[in-house]
Amino acid sequence: MIAAAGSGQRLGAGGPKAFVELAGRPLLDWSLDAFRAAESIAEIVVAVPPGQEGSVAERGVVAVEGGQHRSESVAIAAELCSEEILVVHDAARPLVTPELIDAIVERLVSDREAAAVIAAAPVTDTIKRTADGDRVEETLDRAGLWAVQTPQAFRADALRGALSDADSLPDATDDAMLVERQGGRVLIHSAPAENLKVTAPIDLRVAELLLRERA
Ligand code: C5P
Repeated sequence: MIAAAGSGQRLGAGGPKAFVELAGRPLLDWSLDAFRAAESIAEIVVAVPPGQEGSVAERGVVAVEGGQHRSESVAIAAELCSEEILVVHDAARPLVTPELIDAIVERLVSDREAAAVIAAAPVTDTIKRTADGDRVEETLDRAGLWAVQTPQAFRADALRGALSDADSLPDATDDAMLVERQGGRVLIHSAPAENLKVTAPIDLRVAELLLRERA
């Protein structure tokens, strides 16, 4: 499932982020390439902004109108999936690779106790907490901190159970946190920081450089 229904306000490109041009193609298409090439993926469902279903369905995938919030878009897409393992990915991470997708699914398949396996990279910055954006209250111990990414692979029943609590969806910044709250065992798969998220214009420039380097 690819979450691509965001408005792209922070990027300020004048339209939904998933369709912003990156290295000559819409941002979404880079993720679609990786999911098509991944051996572990049987079907692809994309949550899109209203009115974009037709243009995305032309790419040969299932397209559905997303929700108000990210996890609502994932919940809507999940209703259309019949597999036992569901992989969630943000279209905003165009540098995802088939190898990373397959590695995460393989790890979940091999650990029967795990509810989810998520891509993440160790935090390299020192992280401090402040309530007002001014006075520092606390410095977190960097040793145990990981910056979480997508893809995230889930056992379908665990993800569906977590997504069924509609009240918690608006605040969820990833889906694994919903599974954690229900006591599910979530494992980290170490992923390259290169699997970056396009949020601001500078991210587009870095992503473009990295994609051109790959080509
Ligand atoms: O806003 P943010 O960059 O955190 O969004 C992460 C991903 O979730 C993006 O790929 C975006 O398109 C998607 N999204 C969505 N439905 C929403 C909001 C965001 O599919 N309502």
